[in-house]
Amino acid sequence: MDSCIFCKIVRGEIPSEKVYEDSRVYAFHDIHPAAPVHFMLIPKLHINSLADVEDAHSALLGEMMVLVPRLAREQGCTDGFRTIINTGRVGGQEVHHLHMHIIGGMERLPGMIARGK
Ligand code: AMP
Ligand code: ZN
Repeated sequence: MDSCIFCKIVRGEIPSEKVYEDSRVYAFHDIHPAAPVHFMLIPKLHINSLADVEDAHSALLGEMMVLVPRLAREQGCTDGFRTIINTGRVGGQEVHHLHMHIIGGMERLPGMIARGK
């Protein structure tokens, strides 16, 4: 995807602060961190969102999930962290390349979303 900013990050056309890289995935610090630890794990393959994954992506998604706790620990999250995948309009997804936020580094993260309403 030529114009996708996360594809550009993977290609090195936009600078990023790398956390991890292998042949299939890339992790980098969020430019506007919501907590002391806030990085993103993305597949190098352009997939628009979690709503667009297919059976063929199973191994890739599995690799990402297995990597998350290891990378989180390496970033200092030794007592827990939060993973978020915003998906589509309702999910408030701003960058349309599948990405997982890994957030932590605080004594306790604030609650998820308000209940009710
Ligand atoms: P989302 O709402 O899940 O699509 O979040 C997109 C995230 O990407 C936001 O937290 C942004 O701060 C982050 N972001 C956007 N551009 C960059 C960039 N060039 N480098 C690092 N993070 C970015
Ligand atoms: Zn992309």
